[in-house]
Amino acid sequence: MSSPETWRNWSESALNKLGTMYIYDLDFSEIEQLTKSWNEPGFRAKQIWSGLYKNFWQSASDFTNLPGTLRVKLAESVQFDSLVPAIKQVSSDGRTIKTLFALKDGLKIEAVLMRYDRRRTLCISTQVGCAMGCTFCATGQMGFSRNLSSGEIIAQVMYYAKMLHEENDRVTNIVIMGMGEPFHNYENTISAINRLNDAEGFHFGARRFTISTSGLIPAIRKFADEKNQVNLAVSLHASDDESRSKMMPVNNKYHLEDLIQACRYYVEVTGRRITFEWALINGVNDTPEQAVRLAKLLNGLLCHVNAIPLNPTTGFTGQATTRERAEIFKQTLEQNGIPCTIRIRRGIDIQAGCGQLASQEKIGAGERQANHLDQEAG
Ligand code: SAH
Ligand code: SF4
Repeated sequence: MSSPETWRNWSESALNKLGTMYIYDLDFSEIEQLTKSWNEPGFRAKQIWSGLYKNFWQSASDFTNLPGTLRVKLAESVQFDSLVPAIKQVSSDGRTIKTLFALKDGLKIEAVLMRYDRRRTLCISTQVGCAMGCTFCATGQMGFSRNLSSGEIIAQVMYYAKMLHEENDRVTNIVIMGMGEPFHNYENTISAINRLNDAEGFHFGARRFTISTSGLIPAIRKFADEKNQVNLAVSLHASDDESRSKMMPVNNKYHLEDLIQACRYYVEVTGRRITFEWALINGVNDTPEQAVRLAKLLNGLLCHVNAIPLNPTTGFTGQATTRERAEIFKQTLEQNGIPCTIRIRRGIDIQAGCGQLASQEKIGAGERQANHLDQEAG
């Protein structure tokens, strides 16, 4: 596997070749530089920044707070539409909206909004496809195309933020659990979070983000050292190396014991609870024996297990566990001292699992479990 840096460079240069500078790719300081280069007064950058992130303006002509000449310059120099909605699906209860977005190079990604109680949770993508190749995962089955830029990650959020704003509502949680492995696109993912977190802009609290990783150990350690307040979820799905390597090839490189060591390090350094994800596959990893072994592995760690019945995909023979088996799994874990939540399926009638719409579009295979979306974060 190449380093995250290599992927990033590849992605950024691919975008540059397309001759694009997306507005959401720019930090505040870069917007300042741009307006300075146009001999504009210092406050213009702030006007643009708040137009983008407070007023949810999404085209140069929206910026009615700027002189017409500057609006024209903006339109000529920066692109606003790094992604455009191609297909939108709404669940029968109207609460879940899934959008397939077309990127400038024609590739497609998905992002989902789930409205439950007072939560407005977004699930966003960080890559087109994924290089990790987890056997049960639709995105893994489609392979890797490219990293998203930080701006393409942000654009997914701003699309839904604007939609909710128009209904006098707002995003409350963002889970980075859509297509791709966020720690394989580390820099762009973190800069997207930082830009969305900016107090003068969108001001989305760090604690309301959750990043989910398949277990890239160096990135987990780096993330721990950054000591920010973003939540971390780690996809485990198996409690021994042999089974985990079969399902998740990343385990051949980063073994389970070392992964758990890195998770212990994360909890030690940040004092934050870690979430472990576990897709319950009938007869495979949903037995009480598995639960006992998992509890031993996690012994003494400040954590929580988020177990979800597998969402079956075309490229994988495993089936979802039953409600009864899931309940026994949960009880066994809890009797052994590990808190566990079983997530119910949601948005299934619109196939809200990421990767699924993309698969219907024939850009890849399969589907992704939507249940992870409604994390406990925040
Ligand atoms: N790449 C990251 C984040 C995206 S996947 C990761 O793997 O953690 C988000 C979650 O969905 C992960 O826990 C992943 O293992 C899980 N997942 C993928 N395919 C699934 C399926 N078919 N059924 C249930 N969960 C699935
Ligand atoms: Fe990639 Fe996550 Fe799917 Fe594995 S589960 S293939 S890491 S998106």
